[in-house]
Amino acid sequence: MRITSVHVKEVTVPLKKPFTTALRSVSCANSILVRVGTDAGLSGYGEAPPTAVITGETKGSIRSAIEEFIAPAITGRELGDFDGLMVALQGCVMKNTSAKAAVDMALYDLLAQSWGLPLWRLLGGARRELITDITISLNDTETMTRDAVEAVYEGYSILKVKVGKGGLGDVDSIAAIRAAVGPAVKLRVDANQGWDGKQSVRIIRAMEDRNLDIELVEQPVPAHDIDALRAVTQSVSTPILADEAVFGAADAIHIIRTRAADFINIKLMKTGGIWNALKICAIAETYGVQCMMGCMLETKLAVSAGAHLAGGKNIITMTDLDGPSLAAADPYTGGPVFTGPHILLPNIPGIGIQKAPGFE
Ligand code: MG
Repeated sequence: MRITSVHVKEVTVPLKKPFTTALRSVSCANSILVRVGTDAGLSGYGEAPPTAVITGETKGSIRSAIEEFIAPAITGRELGDFDGLMVALQGCVMKNTSAKAAVDMALYDLLAQSWGLPLWRLLGGARRELITDITISLNDTETMTRDAVEAVYEGYSILKVKVGKGGLGDVDSIAAIRAAVGPAVKLRVDANQGWDGKQSVRIIRAMEDRNLDIELVEQPVPAHDIDALRAVTQSVSTPILADEAVFGAADAIHIIRTRAADFINIKLMKTGGIWNALKICAIAETYGVQCMMGCMLETKLAVSAGAHLAGGKNIITMTDLDGPSLAAADPYTGGPVFTGPHILLPNIPGIGIQKAPGFE
């Protein structure tokens, strides 16, 4: 089976409420979609959201990377030479990890379809059902507490709370949420690089002293400051999860070998797709480091690819795939079923998305 075409479209999905972190605030999810066609008539679908504040990519750059570099590098190649295809995809342009992820997941979609397997089974078949957390956006304490209570009422038992702008005030927001949701709900705290090293230690220790029972703190310090990340990890008892600090396998090796974080957050838009995400899984398995499967503000297609990977690998013990739960509409046909915190992976070949908006 040969790759014969690569088509690019755009999709916009409105959100139920604005998504706000220490880095940005947006009211809709906007992504580039890709369809990779073959001479056997099969199509694979992929998606890349432009997350400029994290990967440096824009809609224009994603489109250009796919149309000018990736499409020429893979068109005409055999799907069966999957290793060669992946080397060509990853090597045809530097960085541009989201653009690569979109095409990578479309190729995995095709590979799984050609084998007649759901992608999660091809990737390891660890589990068909996942439980995701849901993001509580950064807002004033009252709004965050109300959003948290609403999420618990909707059935979520794990909340990922965005902080990082309020210094010690962040502790009051978390304390108010803990008081409102009670002890049974798991709280993850994501600072999105919003604190410095000393501030992080002070804030996390304050949360520990107030017995707020935080499952983990995600990326407290700037992505490049691995020394500060290590200092924080070694100064508190709350587990620290590296997110923006780990893009690829080399970052994972460095973070794990230097004990700069306790867990790693894998996102396809950082790794450049499933191919490289599997390398991080292998490193994490080797060292016994648990991983989270995360996502950017993605629509259901890209989140579905991440869900298949999380369903494939046992080392991914935490799921943060709430994109479809935040969206006010689902423009796709098929794929995993997202019902509140429950994700049920499909039992049909590939990712399972049968129709994506813009493609006839
Ligand atoms: Mg994060």
